[in-house]
Amino acid sequence: MNRKKIAVISGKGGVGKTSLVASLASLGHKDNDVNLIVLDCDVDAPNLALILPPKSEEDVITQDMYTTKKATFLEEKCTQCKQCYDKHFCEFNALNWDENNNIPIIDYLACEGCGACKVLCPENAFEINPVKSGEIISYETSDELPLVYGITKLGSTTSGLLVSEVKEHANHLKKYEDSNLILIDGPPGIGCPVIATVSGLDYVVAITEPTPSGIHDLKRALEMVTQFNIPFGIVINKADLKSASQKQLKSYIKKSSHEILGRINFDLSIPEAMSYAEPVVDYAPESDASQAINSIYTKLKHILSKL
Ligand code: SF4
Ligand code: SF4
Repeated sequence: MNRKKIAVISGKGGVGKTSLVASLASLGHKDNDVNLIVLDCDVDAPNLALILPPKSEEDVITQDMYTTKKATFLEEKCTQCKQCYDKHFCEFNALNWDENNNIPIIDYLACEGCGACKVLCPENAFEINPVKSGEIISYETSDELPLVYGITKLGSTTSGLLVSEVKEHANHLKKYEDSNLILIDGPPGIGCPVIATVSGLDYVVAITEPTPSGIHDLKRALEMVTQFNIPFGIVINKADLKSASQKQLKSYIKKSSHEILGRINFDLSIPEAMSYAEPVVDYAPESDASQAINSIYTKLKHILSKL
């Protein structure tokens, strides 16, 4: 198989995305046809590492990332003219006035690094500088599966850029050249981090559940994937849930003719496996959920071989 890059996404959080990725990763890593690298691009809340921890803490490599820019105030240049506050230089309300010291103060969480204050201050008392926006962490699990993930620093406004950096980082791993499958745990939603995740992929797995928000957010996520012209398939989690939305989901699938990769019925093995921080296919390989995920894996592998 030529190298394929795929992501599991969900319009809505909490529908079982990371559980599915962990199990697909476990199956892929045991498959002799597959040389796998796993990425967690859910940089605002990465938690795949909890299920696939490092072999040893000493082997974990952490790299600081500086993809965010923020304003820096240079007090020595300031003449206290107060224009920056009175003339409202900052559209993001990140410039306040320190009455005690008679100088502007920057709210770093609100600052978007737009540069307006730098341009408008008559004394050039603001600079725009890169600041730490997050970290990229990489390691191998106890089974020597390479895993890379990013984690955004509080207040960083560049989650999408960090996602791109995680993907780029994977291209430089020792095992990248021999890899033939890059499996990504994508962020929920349809914003910048998801767009950065799906860009350049070969296939997307969209996971949902038969609930009003599950269906609503699935549609939005698939609209976004369609814009990128990336083939995709759907996994329905908690497929047997007694829900008024079952009819709506069935009708949507029928009308759209979207490909269904599989259905995973509600199975207590999944939350149990999560509580032990294990992929369900390892924790309870005979469970109905594991059987369903095995079928999804086989179908996915077949689809990827045809791409
Ligand atoms: S506009 Fe510039 S010089 Fe005037 S108070 Fe603000 S930082 Fe100081
Ligand atoms: S860089 Fe932009 S957002 Fe930040 S303080 Fe200056 S004007 Fe406000």
